[in-house]
Amino acid sequence: MKSSLKPPFNPTAKTPSAGARPAFPVQLKPEAGVPSATKLIAATARPERAVGQIGIKKPSPTLAPGVTSGIGLDSQAVRARMVHKLAAQGVSDAQVLAAMGQVERHRFVDTALVNQAYEDTSLPIGLGQTISKPNVVARMLELLRHGATGKLGRVLEIGTGCGYQAAVLSHLATEVYSIERLRGLHDKARENLRFLRLPNVHLLFGDGMIGYAKGAPYAAIIAAAGGEAIPPAWIEQLAMGGRLVAPLQTASGAQALVVVDKTPQGVRQTLLEAVHFVPLKSGTS
Ligand code: SAH
Repeated sequence: MKSSLKPPFNPTAKTPSAGARPAFPVQLKPEAGVPSATKLIAATARPERAVGQIGIKKPSPTLAPGVTSGIGLDSQAVRARMVHKLAAQGVSDAQVLAAMGQVERHRFVDTALVNQAYEDTSLPIGLGQTISKPNVVARMLELLRHGATGKLGRVLEIGTGCGYQAAVLSHLATEVYSIERLRGLHDKARENLRFLRLPNVHLLFGDGMIGYAKGAPYAAIIAAAGGEAIPPAWIEQLAMGGRLVAPLQTASGAQALVVVDKTPQGVRQTLLEAVHFVPLKSGTS
């Protein structure tokens, strides 16, 4: 097991200055204990456009006129409505609600789906995967924070997808390591996050089932894909006192949210409500 005295991990620079960070993708040397076949490529989201730009992705020529107009400018109000609804549905963590209110979800979905971006629905993001519905994202983040007063420390996310949840997490954690096994989505997330200038989000291409030992121990681990069991690497890489939130396949074949707390007395697992996530798969593609 890793010592909790291990100094904080920073793969790029001692001081988090943008200039000191290498351009991505950066190939990391395989870690001891991490099979070389599961090559991890770190990509720190870096800016290319000026900050403060309001608007949405370039409208697709096939889009019906009027569908996108104004959503960039109005999205603050639309998000405020979404946050209001989340609170009405029982999400009470003010930091989670604030983070959900800040991240422009419409930037993470296909142009043709922009008008559904703030509805409480999951949406396709390509390669057969989906962005979770806002209510589920908020619920999981609330469980992950577990009433913490400040920010979480380092957080590992399994299943970057389009990068939306990683962006929300960037407001709630000091560092976010997010792994995706599908190259196409890893690239898409990198593209989506570029303009946001989130120096604390580190995108990794690899098999999240083995976690990311280099960043361990993690204050929290969150998975956006459900397997039949919690991979042992996740528990190993969780800090003492840390919490893991993931979908898990139950005996009946259905999925439920599971919360795992790593305590000095042992690992405590709590099964919560039913959920529907894409499957956790091994290897990369
Ligand atoms: N948090 C994402 C949700 C993505 S859906 C978002 O905000 O968009 C779940 C993702 O988990 C999919 O992209 C899928 O490819 C990925 N996934 C499944 N198994 C994985 C694994 N072993 N390692 C990394 N990613 C995995």
